[in-house]
Amino acid sequence: MKTVYLDNNATTMVAPEVFDAMAPFFSERYGNPSSMHSFGGNVARDVARAREHVAALLGAAPQEIVFTSGGTESDSTAILSALATMPHRKEIVATRVEHPAILNLCKHLARFKGYTVRWLSVDKDGMLDMDEVRSKITDQTAVVSVMWANNETGVIFPIQRIAEAAAEHGALMHTDAVQAVGKIPMDLASTDVSLLALSGHKFHGPKGIGALYVRKGTRFSPFVIGGHQEADRRGGTTNVPGVVGIGEAARLALAAIHDEYQRVGAMRDRLQEGLLQTIPSARVNGKIGSRLPNTLNIAFEFVEGEAILMRMDDKGICASSGSACTSGSLEPSHVLRAMGVPFTAVHGSIRFSLSRYTTDDEISYVIAELPGIIEFLRELSPFGKEFLDAACRVQ
Ligand SMILES: *Cc1c(COP(=O)(O)O)cnc(C)c1O
Repeated sequence: MKTVYLDNNATTMVAPEVFDAMAPFFSERYGNPSSMHSFGGNVARDVARAREHVAALLGAAPQEIVFTSGGTESDSTAILSALATMPHRKEIVATRVEHPAILNLCKHLARFKGYTVRWLSVDKDGMLDMDEVRSKITDQTAVVSVMWANNETGVIFPIQRIAEAAAEHGALMHTDAVQAVGKIPMDLASTDVSLLALSGHKFHGPKGIGALYVRKGTRFSPFVIGGHQEADRRGGTTNVPGVVGIGEAARLALAAIHDEYQRVGAMRDRLQEGLLQTIPSARVNGKIGSRLPNTLNIAFEFVEGEAILMRMDDKGICASSGSACTSGSLEPSHVLRAMGVPFTAVHGSIRFSLSRYTTDDEISYVIAELPGIIEFLRELSPFGKEFLDAACRVQ
């Protein structure tokens, strides 16, 4: 059976070009770029070129790029650096819909380190209220952390306007741009963003490599301390295959970014229309006009998301649900909950995330298969709303 992979916000396929670019650095070109001899030194040039590609994708300078082990490390480094370099400020402003990499870090800092987190809410479309943003940023704010685009709904936030509000109070602006990088064009040089996190495996690079953008002139405190790698900003022997891989992934993404925005967006829109037209009471989660081109989060009320995923899996279709069923209790998505999506709809919410490798045939296949799955599950379950209410008993 074929696999239709529509879970690209969870991870992506390594592009064949990326795999080929990395291969020599696992075998004959295994040198350490920090070595004095030319066997290592030659590799340093490849690392430098990769840094240029990542910088170009962001509209940044190569010296502003620090390679890390991934999005999570970049996020931790950014927040902890901001707090360390502004020791007199004890407040963090962040949205309620951040990825766990930011969310759980902020909760940890509040619980164990004495910081106050001022949470930004979202409306039913998953959008921020700029008045609330401005009112929560104060002269006590060390860092404002707002993701560029949400991983569950694809909703894009007005990063530059938020960065301006942060700058007015001398706070640093960090953005978790893991989902946005490679999907929407960026020109960081023309923004007030101080820190930005990205991850290789979300745009057809390898897992275990990411980068942190640190704007020139931003005071910085390293998180991983060791050798002098990354200009003293991140210790540890350079992950050369990973760096070369993320560099090639960045080069490919930049070369195709405008075409893919259109092409992938058109496929996503066709999937959305196809499902809305054929499945009764299906609704889109997230502001329709302000989303990543590849993401569709859609609620099928009174159906259990895990059951949809299982039946889709039987048909070879991979996606994600708005709830995680662990040890008999359903944990609903914090993002959909923050948007006020009813529990019965949260549990039946499915995220489809496309990529440049998604085909029109695959979209047609999902549009053909999903209505039958939803109808089957709705008929099968005599419980509907009551069942979900009893089964979840969330808050
Ligand atoms: C995947 C993801 C991360 C984590 O990146 P890793 O490289 O897997 O650590 C952080 N933020 C967002 C929005 C993500 O989608």
